[in-house]
Amino acid sequence: MRARQLRRAAPIALLASLTLISTPGVAFADPAAATSSQDVRTALVAKQSEQSGEKSLDQQIASAEKALEKAKNQVADAQRKLDNTTSVHDKAKQATAKAQDRLAQARKQLDKAESDQRKAEQRVQKHESAGFSFDGMVDSVLAFLGSDVTDSLGEEVENKREAVSQAEDAVGAAERDGTKAKQAKSNAEQAHEQATGRQDEAQSELDKLNERKQAEEAKKQEQAEAEAAPADGGGAAPAAAPGIVKPAEGTFTSGYGARWGTTHYGVDIANSIGTPIKSAMSGTVISSGPASGFGLWVRVQHDNGLITVYGHIDQSLVAVGQRVEAGQQIATMGNRGQSTGPHLHFEIHENGAKIDPLPWLQAHGITL
Ligand SMILES: [Zn+2]
Repeated sequence: MRARQLRRAAPIALLASLTLISTPGVAFADPAAATSSQDVRTALVAKQSEQSGEKSLDQQIASAEKALEKAKNQVADAQRKLDNTTSVHDKAKQATAKAQDRLAQARKQLDKAESDQRKAEQRVQKHESAGFSFDGMVDSVLAFLGSDVTDSLGEEVENKREAVSQAEDAVGAAERDGTKAKQAKSNAEQAHEQATGRQDEAQSELDKLNERKQAEEAKKQEQAEAEAAPADGGGAAPAAAPGIVKPAEGTFTSGYGARWGTTHYGVDIANSIGTPIKSAMSGTVISSGPASGFGLWVRVQHDNGLITVYGHIDQSLVAVGQRVEAGQQIATMGNRGQSTGPHLHFEIHENGAKIDPLPWLQAHGITL
């Protein structure tokens, strides 16, 4: 048998080695791929599920939910069986108690019948030993009648004995049923406990997976936030949001709000005349030139709907309708209009309202 296999295998081995020689490049790769194609496929699947970690986790959660659902159904089934077997066991116990009552009654009746029989026999014996006389005749008749009575009493005793025996059988049967019912109930209790354990396991598995998912999502969110606002070189200040630029370098001299009995609708940044003023965001210039109170100003309409205002400028470097980028210089700092020194008056308008630029800039990582 083995020899025949070897003989048959030999030409195949020869063919294989010939293949190896004739096409070395493919032949060396092919046998490996053929023998472990299943392994490769398994590894690929594992790699894919590793790459798409979220999908795999979602799948795990879905199957854990299914397992939990199944376990819950099994618990419900086990509960029904337990209820049934408990009810059967209770009935069996009642039946046993009833059968025992009947047995006790039958025994009592047997005792009474036996006692009646004994008394009758004693009476007959007394009359038989009295001898022949008139009285004796009467007694003999009585004795005759008496023996008839004792016969019938004997029959009664037999009947009662039979009843006791039947009652004993009934108790035995009821007890056997009770034992079976007790065993079934015990099995059902065990099954219920196991099913509950499986449900707990399935629940905790699902909880674990959900926790993992939440952790991963939180991590992703963190990463997304970190990418959206990259660190600016290790400063404690938050990094500036992309596309938003501090409009001018200088000293923050005045904030938004009530000032000198009026309302100051912007912030002031003081520096020397000629300091570059930059567009805070990209947008389109909508004003460039003289402005009441501000001397000269530039206003830029931004793509996000906001309008920024740059007042008291010395020179405007842009024209109305011109497109400007965030950080592009649009003017130079000046001291024109109602101004007490060279500074930039900077405003932000949102939906027609002049908002406080300071918190808005801070929210975008820019401190004045
Ligand atoms: Zn101002």
